[in-house]
Amino acid sequence: MIRDQESMNVLLDAVRRFVRERLIPAEEAVVETDEIPADIVSDMKELGLFGMSIPEEYGGLGLTMEEEALTVIELCMASPAFRSVIGTTVGIGSQGIVMDGTEEQKRAWLPRLASGELIASFALTEPDAGSDAASLRTTAVRDGDDYVVNGTKRYITNAPEAGVFTLMARTDPANKGAGGITAFVVDARSPGISFGTNDRKMGQRGAHTCDVIFSDCRVPARNVIGAREGRGFRTAMKVLDKGRIHLAAVCVGAAERILEEALRYAMQRRQFGQAIGEFQLVQAMLADSKAELYAARCMVLDAARRRDAGENVSTEASCAKLFASEMCGRIADRAVQIHGGAGYMSEYAVERFYRDVRIFRIYEGTSQIQQLVIARNMMREASA
Ligand SMILES: Cc1cc2nc3c(=O)[nH]c(=O)nc-3n(C[C@H](O)[C@H](O)[C@H](O)COP(=O)(O)OP(=O)(O)OC[C@H]3O[C@@H](n4cnc5c(N)ncnc54)[C@H](O)[C@@H]3O)c2cc1C
Repeated sequence: MIRDQESMNVLLDAVRRFVRERLIPAEEAVVETDEIPADIVSDMKELGLFGMSIPEEYGGLGLTMEEEALTVIELCMASPAFRSVIGTTVGIGSQGIVMDGTEEQKRAWLPRLASGELIASFALTEPDAGSDAASLRTTAVRDGDDYVVNGTKRYITNAPEAGVFTLMARTDPANKGAGGITAFVVDARSPGISFGTNDRKMGQRGAHTCDVIFSDCRVPARNVIGAREGRGFRTAMKVLDKGRIHLAAVCVGAAERILEEALRYAMQRRQFGQAIGEFQLVQAMLADSKAELYAARCMVLDAARRRDAGENVSTEASCAKLFASEMCGRIADRAVQIHGGAGYMSEYAVERFYRDVRIFRIYEGTSQIQQLVIARNMMREASA
């Protein structure tokens, strides 16, 4: 749903200009330094990007899912590391509070997240609990007005920069499954939190992940999201449903940029006396990519509109994430192929994108987990 087309066009134009004039020219510097320049982060704050998904009453832009998807598609025409700066605050880090937080929690945290003053991270994954997130072992034991948290979270995006964590921990040791998990908002400066060294990743330099270690970390009981124990996994799954549409939009934006690079190269590079784009075998790669990209874009926008209309989009969100992330990987692979040897060289953007987009098939639910969600939903609906 687009509430006001004119304001939407203004926002999309501003993001498009920001991408072309500020982000794309800074891509190489980000690779060199492994940092997003501070002036770019402050421009992102100014554009309101940190508050994209936070309701207006708490200082955000309050975009609908369709508006968010369109904005993210534009933003992701630049290196995905830029989106990652706002990604956890816009998505999995803040949405637990937006969806299930108490009024007090919303007032305490959302305005500071919306302005970009604080970065929010989402701490679910553990060394022994990835796809099987419901088996997580981090414990939160009630002690007076606090919970005492112990455990290690792994590969947490933006953890080194985070001001606050949405943390999933087990409050009921007798319940080893999803029902024993509670969601907390945790101030990142709390005593008892320490950080591993930054992970050395395949791609997305400038975006950071690391372990987050909780050792007798005291978290006030008022920080239980929604003030109820045992609802954390349900919150996490709701957050991820929305996050999957956001991530599918990320894949569409990145794939658009990659295809643009491949098309430009195919029209410039000459072999056998003509542009390689004139060869039908190269055209097939371009055309397949265009068709798949169009399909993914339609899926993302359809899933977003359905969510805005209040439908349960668990299946559609997983379909969009599965298809769009696989599509993005195929397009990145073809773009390298179209570039020939140049595609293997780091001075060409497609080499970097090829590595950067590989993660999209893995985090926020691997492709296999999306397949399981889709098939389980199909069977549940058929037997209802
Ligand atoms: C760069 C990066 C950033 C991340 N950011 C965050 C973050 O901010 N917060 C957070 O909580 N987590 C984060 N993660 C963790 C990420 O969500 C997990 O890595 C992902 O969910 C997969 O879990 P795993 O790595 O333990 O793989 P595993 O679960 O061990 O999976 C390994 C393989 O087995 C397959 N598999 C597992 N179970 C099944 C099954 N039932 N059926 C079929 N196949 C199966 C998987 O699909 C995969 O191919 C991040 C990871 C990375 C790499």
